[in-house]
Amino acid sequence: MSVAEQTESLRSTFEISDPVLGKKLYDLTEPEDAELDAVYARAQAAFGVIRQMSVRQRLDECNKLLNYIRDNRESILDRVIAETGKTRYEALISEVFAVLDMIDYYDKHAEKMLADRPLATPLLLMGKKGKIIFEPIGPVLCIAPWNFPFNQAITFFLCPFVAGNPVILKPSEFTPLFGLVEEIFDKAGVMKDAIQVVYGGRDTGRRLIDRRPAKIFFTGSTRAGKEIMAHAANYLVPVELELGGKDPMLVFDDVDVERTVNGCLWGGVSNAGQTCTAIERVYVQEGLYDTFVSELKTKIEMLRTPATAPSKDDRVNMDVGAMTTEFQLQKVEEQLAQAQASGAKVTGTGKRYEGTQCIAPTLVTDAPADSPIWREETFGPVIAVGKFKTEEDAIRLANDCQYGLSSSVWSRDLQRAERVARRLEAGQVSINNILSTQAHSGLPFGGTKQSGFGRFKGEFGLHSFSNIKSIMTEPQNNKLEVNWFPYSKEKYEAMTNLILAAFTAHPLKIVRTALAGLKLEGLAKKQRL
Ligand code: NAD
Repeated sequence: MSVAEQTESLRSTFEISDPVLGKKLYDLTEPEDAELDAVYARAQAAFGVIRQMSVRQRLDECNKLLNYIRDNRESILDRVIAETGKTRYEALISEVFAVLDMIDYYDKHAEKMLADRPLATPLLLMGKKGKIIFEPIGPVLCIAPWNFPFNQAITFFLCPFVAGNPVILKPSEFTPLFGLVEEIFDKAGVMKDAIQVVYGGRDTGRRLIDRRPAKIFFTGSTRAGKEIMAHAANYLVPVELELGGKDPMLVFDDVDVERTVNGCLWGGVSNAGQTCTAIERVYVQEGLYDTFVSELKTKIEMLRTPATAPSKDDRVNMDVGAMTTEFQLQKVEEQLAQAQASGAKVTGTGKRYEGTQCIAPTLVTDAPADSPIWREETFGPVIAVGKFKTEEDAIRLANDCQYGLSSSVWSRDLQRAERVARRLEAGQVSINNILSTQAHSGLPFGGTKQSGFGRFKGEFGLHSFSNIKSIMTEPQNNKLEVNWFPYSKEKYEAMTNLILAAFTAHPLKIVRTALAGLKLEGLAKKQRL
């Protein structure tokens, strides 16, 4: 552990400030151990209630949230914007719309997704009935990052809660939105302790893990994901990790240039690039490369930032907001300096605006293949553009990365786009769009490789927080199973015949299998202990 990390983990107070105005908002203090014990005791008590509720009753609680958030969106946005430095339109879409849409989607579909699932009975198990049921697991600990603090608070709550579990949320120490979630749940009239928010930094996160939640849902950096997985292993607590990304965008030369350039710009620079699924690497087919880069350069310079918008406070008429944390901004500046030193062309100032945590959206071209700009997560408003010749090249470049979160393929030839999409090492691929897989509340979300594992959202997002239990039922009678004692030579031969009948292709396979099965059953009936 570095000195900086040790200092970080020992800190007990965090200062929360507005990244655009540079103004201190409040201090945050880490909780005592006794408080954490009380949180878990309340979560266990709430679990007893939530697990008994029907899925419909849980959805009714979520709908109370939907109504409250819809009606109080402006005051919620004020809080989010002050702590993150986002533009208002972006916050409205990603922090409010996305949350309401997920509640609405589950309202329509979750009952079916969590309903018991009977399965057709295989011939060899005739007379028995198998089904899968989805049961709650217990208090779920959600540890969140700082980039979409309100969206993450509510959506991280939804999946575990709809599946029947109470949630303990530890927001990021950089964007805690202190008191907001509790106020919303309280005023919306949602049942007590469905969610409890625990504020603090890494040390609080570790102490919450020590109290053994039923599951940990972590979203954040790959570094922290590894630490949390190692820590949770001590208690055999299952983890789901949504980690970093370095998403590629593959652009073939048959695309509509205007739409594709605009998509690229939004995918790379929205939320000031602080999205795990931001486009960080763009590979353009060589015939289109010069036109694409020139268009992108023109448009990136048209984006209004806190320096060029009518005023720093006018977050409605602004396209790109601030970077939320000073340390991330420094990482971006470092990466740009490295790229420039290695001979890459950096377009746009790449500089921060005096007195703010805002940086001009920046384009990097001609970066050498080993430059960190191609390999390390940037997490800022920076887009690196390179070129490819063939479909094979494009796939190789996209997959040549430690991360595998999202990606996109752009081409008029949908067969080719689908062919490429299937070969990309990623959790999700959007064809001819950006982040459209995330926009669909029914599609699961998650990563491959160093981007983590597990799936969130949609049906898989509910099953991730369920004990997926198998039940097999048959009537009570005096029948003995063919695989039970006693064993004998006759039963051995009859079982061999059954295997040969059941697993050999033949026009009369079903009849032969049924006859062999009956013979074996007859023996089992006769040869009893
Ligand atoms: P971070 O990993 O530093 O912190 C995330 C959270 O984990 C914070 O709440 C922090 O206090 C806590 N934490 C850190 N170390 C811990 C430890 N050892 N034990 C317990 N808790 C610990 O990440 P960040 O800087 O807040 O967020 C940025 C990162 O998150 C980026 O890498 C980004 O790509 C990733 N991210 C991923 C997704 C996704 O869904 N895949 C979504 C958003 C952000």
